[in-house]
Amino acid sequence: MSLIERDKKVIWHPYTQMKNALPHIPIVRGAGVYVFDENGRRYIDAVSSWWVNIHGHAHPHIAKKVAAQLNVLEHVIFAGFTHEPAVLLAERLLPLLPGKQDKVFYTDNGSTAVEVALKMCLQYWNNKGKPKTKILAFKNAYHGDTFGAMSVSGRSIFTDAFNNLLFDVEFIDLPNHDNIEKLKTKILDLKSDVACFIFEPLILGSGGMLMYEAKYLDALLSACKEANILAIADEVMTGFGRTGTYFACEKLDNKPDIFCLSKGLTGGTMPLGVTTCTNEIFDAFLSDDKLKTLYHGHSFTANPIACVASLASLDILLENETLENIKRIEARHAVFLEEIKSHSKVKAIRQTGTIIAIEWETGNETSYLSNLRNLLYTYFLDKGIILRPLGNIIYILPPYVISNEDLDYIYDAIKSALEEI
Ligand SMILES: *Cc1c(COP(=O)(O)O)cnc(C)c1O
Repeated sequence: MSLIERDKKVIWHPYTQMKNALPHIPIVRGAGVYVFDENGRRYIDAVSSWWVNIHGHAHPHIAKKVAAQLNVLEHVIFAGFTHEPAVLLAERLLPLLPGKQDKVFYTDNGSTAVEVALKMCLQYWNNKGKPKTKILAFKNAYHGDTFGAMSVSGRSIFTDAFNNLLFDVEFIDLPNHDNIEKLKTKILDLKSDVACFIFEPLILGSGGMLMYEAKYLDALLSACKEANILAIADEVMTGFGRTGTYFACEKLDNKPDIFCLSKGLTGGTMPLGVTTCTNEIFDAFLSDDKLKTLYHGHSFTANPIACVASLASLDILLENETLENIKRIEARHAVFLEEIKSHSKVKAIRQTGTIIAIEWETGNETSYLSNLRNLLYTYFLDKGIILRPLGNIIYILPPYVISNEDLDYIYDAIKSALEEI
């Protein structure tokens, strides 16, 4: 049996209608920006394998560090015990974050990093003797697939089967020039019961790469500060250089109280999540009263191999060459944007840092489920490019090591698609 047939017998794939799914392409190895299938066919990974890969596949520096750690300590319980990779990663990560972040709490992925952030905020107010239960979030937000993370995400086809089980959240529109004063007033009016505001800074990823300006987010955060609402920056997608700076919140004057990180954290090598917070939050859990403890943890909390992969990824991220690559991708995207923005099939085009998104004109109502999505997906796959459209929106979110030639190849493929589809 081929791998495709064996897969079909025993595997249930994520975000996939298994009834009529296209065959899943068996990948046998990766190198730099490419992955290769079992027939030797090469694909450019233009979506960084679901936004996680930042330095390219099978990066030798990360591989070397991970391999060495495997021979020393693969894992140890993280309650009652600690280890160098976890401590060192926290020591190196905290000073890189915007504002003053003091403590790292380790989890396994982006969704659990969000769960921990929400629990920190809700219990913070409980521990302070001022319980608050409301949470503020953006309408088209995406914060993950566990129940708490789903609850603070926009209601969509992803959450449809569970909507009546999700907790109530106050959803607000993305801020812009016209609605910012109204949104600020709303936040100040709500203030007494709102525990926290969770947001994806500058770009709502899964919601359709919706972008908004830093100055309006800053204004919302000012209102939150005035209303005593804690701010959670979900930088799971935007972290580690995606928006042109190491973290999207560097572009803000107001700094969040909590950060959620995952995806690019290990360079895309291993699952790992972190939730960081200020001492103001941490200190509210210090007590002789056991009920004030944060009772949360995962079996693989702070896995040493994942921490070492993250340390190796940080080494590369902080090299000048990486920052130059980020700036290079940003500049080339900007040129491409100008080139195609007036095309009749381009309904909208937007860019933040290394991410560029193109909304296809369809002439009618579209959604994540539209047929166009599959047409576009297979069109680019046939050209050896992995682009996974969100409905009628295609986006390029590449590893930073992508060459100019490969960027041009993708741009040209998009230009042909605009003519042919
Ligand atoms: C992907 C994502 C998550 C969820 O992370 P997982 O590791 O897939 O659980 C949360 N927030 C944002 C902004 C994301 O893009």
